[in-house]
Amino acid sequence: MSEKNIPYKTYLTEDEMPRAWYNLRADMKVKPAPLLNPGTGAPMKAAELENVFCKELVRQELDDETAYFEIPQEIRDFYKMYRPSPLVRAYCLEEKLKTPAKIYYKFEGSNTSGSHKLNSAIAQAYYAKQQGLAGVTTETGAGQWGTALSMACAYLGLDCRVYMVKCSYEQKPFRREVMKVYGANVTPSPSETTQVGKKILAEFPGTTGSLGCAISEAVEAASSREGYRYVLGSVLNQVLLHQSVIGLEAKAALDKYGVKPDIVIGCAGGGSNLGGLIAPFMGEKLRGEADYRIVAVEPASCPSLTRGKFAYDFCDTGRVCPLSKMYTLGSSFIPSADHAGGLRFHGMSATLSQLYHDGYMEAVSVKQTDVFEAAEEFARVEGILPAPESGHAILAAMNEAKKCTEAGEEKVILFGLTGTGYFDLVAYEKFHNGEMVNFVPTDEDIERSLAQLPRV
Ligand SMILES: *Cc1c(COP(=O)(O)O)cnc(C)c1O
Repeated sequence: MSEKNIPYKTYLTEDEMPRAWYNLRADMKVKPAPLLNPGTGAPMKAAELENVFCKELVRQELDDETAYFEIPQEIRDFYKMYRPSPLVRAYCLEEKLKTPAKIYYKFEGSNTSGSHKLNSAIAQAYYAKQQGLAGVTTETGAGQWGTALSMACAYLGLDCRVYMVKCSYEQKPFRREVMKVYGANVTPSPSETTQVGKKILAEFPGTTGSLGCAISEAVEAASSREGYRYVLGSVLNQVLLHQSVIGLEAKAALDKYGVKPDIVIGCAGGGSNLGGLIAPFMGEKLRGEADYRIVAVEPASCPSLTRGKFAYDFCDTGRVCPLSKMYTLGSSFIPSADHAGGLRFHGMSATLSQLYHDGYMEAVSVKQTDVFEAAEEFARVEGILPAPESGHAILAAMNEAKKCTEAGEEKVILFGLTGTGYFDLVAYEKFHNGEMVNFVPTDEDIERSLAQLPRV
């Protein structure tokens, strides 16, 4: 399927599930910049990437032209267990806010892993299996991605090795045990099982680890073991591609009721749920067929779009991964121990970064205590206990609805509710006890890490 400009409806099944993922890059006039080899500065070749990633996923990663990728039947069968995900009109929230705005949210927390990450986990595990691999390795911070990948691997009978940041492994036992329920091998990182882990432990005995360090271990574990590849749950083009099911379903449902959103809002960590939710809407915007306001919401503690620089940078703290051109705070930027673990990434998807740079979307940053206040207000009227990450989108949607009240405008707002917060109750506890602080980096903090950007 290489044709461009085909209405996405062509790709819906009878039960209104997408038959194909939509690749937003196909409609971008200015494509996202290529990944670069950090050693040579040359664009990464497929063969180089295939040493680390699955072959078909590399093909998807590098393809800026094909608009639709057919979803294999086995993945569609898996999606059927929890999709289409609910698109809900937030009547009770509208009532509470006394707003003339119509608010809709797409809820991705109705599967056991509790977030949208399963949409890409099953796709990545499927292609690993198809390639005849024995297993995959990955890192996880708070554990949402590791949980989703474990579920997908259990379904397909694939070995799953997760390097979990040591402080999360010790302090957040719940997701760790869910991963083990699904048969994953979970190792606290840094560990003695890799060279890079041993080196870090020798240098910093007693360290509780970091995401960057866990990535380095997971990459080494994949490349040093026959029949394994490394998989990543956000940031990459392939992940945005898989997450387009969120937006395609949302658009199909809204179209059915003749509703056109004015504003589409999502939280942004690495950019995968937002990239997926906005995909078909942004596609129309890029082709000049319709206009939408598109808003990324990030934490004030890790504001890559609103305060970062558009430049080539490493995707990991260990500086082993390829360079990506993106909005970044610098790979040495250490965000504060914010409770929205899924939003603590120093960079942003190259696709969303390019779209933001070219003026196709907006970004706002919000403070943590305001996020929890909004999340709680939402829980009380709509019933769902939101993940702290999702709370960012809720807050921004509520702020837009309040503006509509003031202006007497009847706008339609669509936002992504990415997951549930059952495993984040320690964060809610801190909020209730008044122990939550709003850390916002100073300009000097950001300048210091930006000064270490690689020269390209
Ligand atoms: C991981 C995660 C996010 C942020 O990741 P993106 O790649 O930016 O979508 C948001 N919400 C939840 C619930 C998550 O688990």
